[in-house]
Amino acid sequence: MEIKTQVLVVGSGIAGCTAALAAARAGAEVLLITGETDPLESNTARAQGGIVLRGPGDTPELLEKDILTAGAGICDPEAVRHLAQHGPPLVQSLLIQEMGVPFNLDPNGDLDITEEGAHSLPRIVHAEDLTGRAIMQSLLTALKSEPRIALKTGLLAVDLLSLPDHSANRLDLYRPQACAGVYALDVAAGDVLTVTAAQTILATGGLGQIYLHTTNSRVARGDGVAMAYRLGARLLNLEYVQFHPTALFHPDANRFLISESMRGEGAVLVDQTGREFMPKYHPQGSLAPRDVVARAIQNEMLESGAPCVYLDITRKDAAWVRGRFPNIYKTCLQYGVDITAQPIPVVPAAHYACGGVAVDLSGRTTIPNLRAVGEVSCTGLHGANRLASTSLLEGLLWGWNAGIDAARVLNEKGRPTIPPMRPFIAETEPVDPALIFQDWRTIKSTMWNYVGLTRTPRRLSRALSILRELQFEILAFYRKARPSDAIIGLRNGITTALAVLFAAQRNPSSCGAHYLQED
Ligand SMILES: Cc1cc2nc3c(=O)[nH]c(=O)nc-3n(C[C@H](O)[C@H](O)[C@H](O)COP(=O)(O)OP(=O)(O)OC[C@H]3O[C@@H](n4cnc5c(N)ncnc54)[C@H](O)[C@@H]3O)c2cc1C
Repeated sequence: MEIKTQVLVVGSGIAGCTAALAAARAGAEVLLITGETDPLESNTARAQGGIVLRGPGDTPELLEKDILTAGAGICDPEAVRHLAQHGPPLVQSLLIQEMGVPFNLDPNGDLDITEEGAHSLPRIVHAEDLTGRAIMQSLLTALKSEPRIALKTGLLAVDLLSLPDHSANRLDLYRPQACAGVYALDVAAGDVLTVTAAQTILATGGLGQIYLHTTNSRVARGDGVAMAYRLGARLLNLEYVQFHPTALFHPDANRFLISESMRGEGAVLVDQTGREFMPKYHPQGSLAPRDVVARAIQNEMLESGAPCVYLDITRKDAAWVRGRFPNIYKTCLQYGVDITAQPIPVVPAAHYACGGVAVDLSGRTTIPNLRAVGEVSCTGLHGANRLASTSLLEGLLWGWNAGIDAARVLNEKGRPTIPPMRPFIAETEPVDPALIFQDWRTIKSTMWNYVGLTRTPRRLSRALSILRELQFEILAFYRKARPSDAIIGLRNGITTALAVLFAAQRNPSSCGAHYLQED
């Protein structure tokens, strides 16, 4: 079966929804797909802390300076300037004025503007500690009232279509490379459909699931990075995986994130004896950049042999803490931790991919007709490390620009004719869940131990032998398997893990989130 659309958006997080909305409003017919049955399932819906606006006394130049400092000198200055100038006004016009996202207000009825680690002043707006969910709900409501957008859930992109390689006409082999849509698995039916599109926008989010401990949603397994890699798109800065320093350490809590804003509001990191340890690592103490904090925690844990450290906010008034962090309060309490009365056990966890598919200011990749937006992309904004609360803003702004630009190309060039594509040939062997489970365990623990917070040449080369061997096995397994979410995800997981590893091996100097030590 074949579906045709003008603009195809793959992924329904903040970046994908915004891209779809912008493209439709600019006149394009849009198909927005997500592999999940619930369009809310995403990293966006997990975002707690907030999104950057403009605080009192703030300027685009100040925001630029903070982003450049966090990025450890390798941000793309043009991308940073673009976000600092155009990002906050878009939050104001689209999210606040038009959609009325329920951001918190202060007692005077003004927006409650808060500060986070490594920002030089308060400039973050939040909706309790469920900011991403509130934004997503508003975006999804806006999408539903847009007649040019069709949202289809349960459609998982398997591979990007290459015009020369997948065209049914063999002579198209001689045409230049261009993206023509995707093969997509109808997850419920098990069929793989051909979805052709004049413009394709990848918005598949991050890759935290390739690590043992991660704050990311289950869908953040690097599908977009792997698909773009197979198509030959340029990938950039993949070695810079940011680890969040504070995920709840509890066997059943799925590394629930304890927001950075808690440290912004005065919580401090202590060891099991209650001693504050961050001042010995950085002059900003517990408000130091997150990779510094994450490595400091790992160091404390290694030195003491303790399985975790603690984040202490008990010095703040209990009622205030419950009001400011209702979701964290409630979730920790479910696991037996009353954050108003006791320190929270925490460990670091893989959190954010600063790198991804290389794009320009309109989200264009190196492959014609393919754009990438949000966490799957690398705009150059984050350089070697991300400043807190800038990623939702990046997804919003680049999603918006990419959507408008995709529609502009269609308006200028007219509707192109895409030749019929070869149908996907599906194999039939059932997938053995034991293989999937064990292969994921190997990927995750190899990446955690050898390509994680602290890398050494020996660890990286050990990871290469393990993952190469595993890739061989997985690809052999994939070629015969009946298509399913599990086997598609595993194939993408190993590809993305190797792409991150190659990037780490190619970069011989420590910088930001890529931290190397001698053997
Ligand atoms: C716990 C947590 C807290 C965070 N807090 C903040 C914060 O306070 N402020 C901030 O700025 N940033 C925060 N971040 C980061 C931010 O949430 C993400 O970077 C951002 O939401 C990514 O948006 P996205 O649209 O690119 O991807 P996502 O929101 O992850 O959406 C990806 C979409 O792609 C779909 N998808 C994936 N693969 C496929 C496929 N093969 N086929 C079809 N669909 C697919 C998914 O189902 C999903 O719909 C946080 C992240 C986490 C994990």
